[in-house]
Amino acid sequence: MPRATKIVATIGPASSSPEVLERILRAGVDVVRLNFSHGKAQDHIDRARLVRDTAARLGREVAIMADLQGPKIRVGKFEQGKVQLEAGQPFALDASCELGNSECAGLDYKDLPRDVRAGDRLLLNDGLIVLAVEAVEGSRIATRVVVGGELSNNKGINKQGGGLSAPALTAKDMDDIRTAMAFQADYLAVSFPKNATDMELARQLANVAGEPWGHKPGLIAKIERAEAIPELAAILRVSDGIMVARGDLAVEVGNAAVPALQKRMIRMARDMDRLTITATQMMESMITNAVPTRAEVSDVANAVLDGTDAVMLSAETAAGKYPVETVEAMASVCVEAERFEELKLEGDFVDKTFTRIDQSIAMAALFTAHHLGCKAIVALTESGSTALWMSRHRVRMPIYALSPQVGSVRRMALFRNVRPLLLHFPSDRDEALRQAETLLVQQHQALDVGDSYAITCGEPIGAPGGTNMLKLVRVAAR
Ligand code: PGA
Ligand code: MN
Repeated sequence: MPRATKIVATIGPASSSPEVLERILRAGVDVVRLNFSHGKAQDHIDRARLVRDTAARLGREVAIMADLQGPKIRVGKFEQGKVQLEAGQPFALDASCELGNSECAGLDYKDLPRDVRAGDRLLLNDGLIVLAVEAVEGSRIATRVVVGGELSNNKGINKQGGGLSAPALTAKDMDDIRTAMAFQADYLAVSFPKNATDMELARQLANVAGEPWGHKPGLIAKIERAEAIPELAAILRVSDGIMVARGDLAVEVGNAAVPALQKRMIRMARDMDRLTITATQMMESMITNAVPTRAEVSDVANAVLDGTDAVMLSAETAAGKYPVETVEAMASVCVEAERFEELKLEGDFVDKTFTRIDQSIAMAALFTAHHLGCKAIVALTESGSTALWMSRHRVRMPIYALSPQVGSVRRMALFRNVRPLLLHFPSDRDEALRQAETLLVQQHQALDVGDSYAITCGEPIGAPGGTNMLKLVRVAAR
């Protein structure tokens, strides 16, 4: 049984050579994340090209996710590159502090003083350093160090409880959207959205930027602000998926709140036919070690059991010592966890009515394949929506999604339990079904003589959203 949960890997200095990239793709990476918080536009353009070339060489389609930096607020640079902060000492954040020292640090976001007041807590460097705000005097935020530590250049700042007013899309993000659409990034991840409006704006910008290529990316909302939690349903409605962005989220809402939020977010997204990526520190220790900790193994397994579409690697593959081993370890944890998944397909359909024919066919295929013990479900799909609906439910057999649209094939790389394949099926239905079977039996060895499978398609073939037919087939000897 192949792996159902997908792996998103961030590439960076440790994984951008053709050799390492090829090895991590072979090890199981389905989606490559380009992190626009680092590097120049040209770096991302070059990496995107390398990903496409490498995937082509492997005869696969891999999705590319461009992850925008967003309004991450950071301290400036320090005279010595870093300072050591001690609990109890005064320390100021001040936009007019050009080069930081042990008394003050600069700020890249001039409006921060307007967003904080005495009594607030600021968390730096992913929460490792805690500052209590004592007073705000003009551009200067006077604080006292609560938890000290080493603070180095450009570390991030979060406000506990949220409430920073920075808009989700910065001028840099808007440039980066144009860069990413020019190489036709399959997904665009938006950092720090507060509400649905932020996502709608991002989608508009992306669609306009993608217009010359007729390209429209999938939009992923990174849930990492406290304000986004009450807006979750609205954000999901206008997005294709969400990222459980535990790095910043944990700092804003407190570590302890995150596991329950992760479960809630994944459940809600699946119920709304949306995608989920669980991210940050999943295999953190593998940045420097060749094996993960027990806790990391459990974390990945639990995200799988929560029903996430994908688990994500950040610095582990971008800058770590063991990018290939990390992907291999993560893949094997996913496979083991999936074997223990509970199936409760019937429960999913009780009290549900479907208004769409294509969606009803997708559900019928799932139900029948499950009870007939089919080896696979096959969907001939233009846009991928049939495969998306099918993949929101837990079944044991894989869903092969065959599409003539390369963009759909790449996007489906993120869908849990969906194996997308490119097939330019003809408009004659019987011939299309025959070609689909040949592809799966002969080229991919996914089906053998005697195996049964459920296959869906739309008549007439080739119209998106037109799935209206389900056929149950047993593979005959030829
Ligand atoms: P980042 O987002 O890695 O871009 O910060 C993910 C997170 O915050 O978890
Ligand atoms: Mn983040």
